[in-house]
Amino acid sequence: MQYTRSSALFAHAEKVIPGGVNSPVRAFGAVGGTPIFIKKAYGPYLIDEDDNQYIDYINSWGPMILGHAYQPVVDAVIEKTKLGTSFGTPTEVETQIAELAVSMVPNIDKIRFVNSGTEACMSAVRLARGFTGKDKIIKFAGCYHGHSDSFLIQAGSGAVTFGSPNSPGVTAGTAKDTLLARFNDLNNVRELIEANPNEIACIIMEPVAGNMGCIPPKPNFLQGLRDLCTKHNILLIFDEVMTGFRLAKGGVQQLYGIKADLVCFGKVIGGGLPVGAFAAREEIMNHLAPIGPVYQAGTLSGNPLAMAAGLAMLQALNQDDEVYRRLEEKTAYLHVGMARVLDANKVVHTINRVGSMISVHFSETAVVDFQSAASGNNDTFKKFFHGMLNHGIYIAPSAFETWFITDALSYDDLDKTIAAVEAVAKTL
Ligand SMILES: *Cc1c(COP(=O)(O)O)cnc(C)c1O
Repeated sequence: MQYTRSSALFAHAEKVIPGGVNSPVRAFGAVGGTPIFIKKAYGPYLIDEDDNQYIDYINSWGPMILGHAYQPVVDAVIEKTKLGTSFGTPTEVETQIAELAVSMVPNIDKIRFVNSGTEACMSAVRLARGFTGKDKIIKFAGCYHGHSDSFLIQAGSGAVTFGSPNSPGVTAGTAKDTLLARFNDLNNVRELIEANPNEIACIIMEPVAGNMGCIPPKPNFLQGLRDLCTKHNILLIFDEVMTGFRLAKGGVQQLYGIKADLVCFGKVIGGGLPVGAFAAREEIMNHLAPIGPVYQAGTLSGNPLAMAAGLAMLQALNQDDEVYRRLEEKTAYLHVGMARVLDANKVVHTINRVGSMISVHFSETAVVDFQSAASGNNDTFKKFFHGMLNHGIYIAPSAFETWFITDALSYDDLDKTIAAVEAVAKTL
């Protein structure tokens, strides 16, 4: 493949944008080479500035669960745009999407919309602190909750890929209130709680981790956390920015039957526009301004274009009783096919999968937490990434990312992907 125009555009971008990108994971820092500039996309395909076409497994890092340029979302945005793009007043569409989201997700009464997953998590933690009157939080190594200061402690994917687990600029004062636990290790969490009696406001987690590859919770891990939180008056925050509306209509709460106290959303809920949200039962949400004391605001929060896109996306998911089953079947098909050709070529690997999230680790051991995720062979991943790209398959340029399956993928696309894995496996 030729990347002439992408290379020229990147060289130009680097002069005026740090690293040439507006989000670090887009750079090819971990895999080498030059990022590819995409000019358009439809269904499961990306087309770059040199007119190369790819089957896309990034899907804008999650939102495009029904494929790119999904017609109902495109139409909704175009129609809203004609009426003006932002008013800074309440609009009806905000209530419509809120009502639909509350009806789809178990255990929430009210939801507030923000502009990104980062904002959702940051605000949910502030609310948890305000509600409980406690300061400390527990997060898990390898879980990502956006780039707000208190979360940049062993934050998975982007942060880890770039070798800065703890970012400079995060003060010691902030870092001391974030306690770090091992994913899937209930005893570790219990020890932290016992060592900090009456100080912990919340546990924030990706209930199915997706930012150190895909890592499912072990049986009883979520229920164990729920029980600990209830016992110690700690709020359990499910960061479902990645899993919300992706693994089930009601996300991980529905899939595993566990109740969280606060839930964060992003990605799918915005249909590809910048949206985040956080939600809880009424008693907690009523602590927010303007009715409660915890402040949180946003000039463009609940923006009509973003809400129209998100509403069209959620309506499509809500109306289709088969979509999550189809997604899981496609993902399982890919899993079986990839495992077969990797095994046949004696490539050491572990594949993890939940619903439409799947990740391939070039690792000998089971991948159950950050440490085991980090034990994968990064040189093999680099070769795999570039090999796949050359075969027209676009996966994330980091071994710590999950692949996202979109319903727009056909079985023919999946077969092509498996054939590409087979061809690349022979070169590893
Ligand atoms: C992507 C992501 C975020 C951050 O969302 P942004 O919209 O990038 O700010 C937070 N939590 C999880 C689990 C994510 O996957």
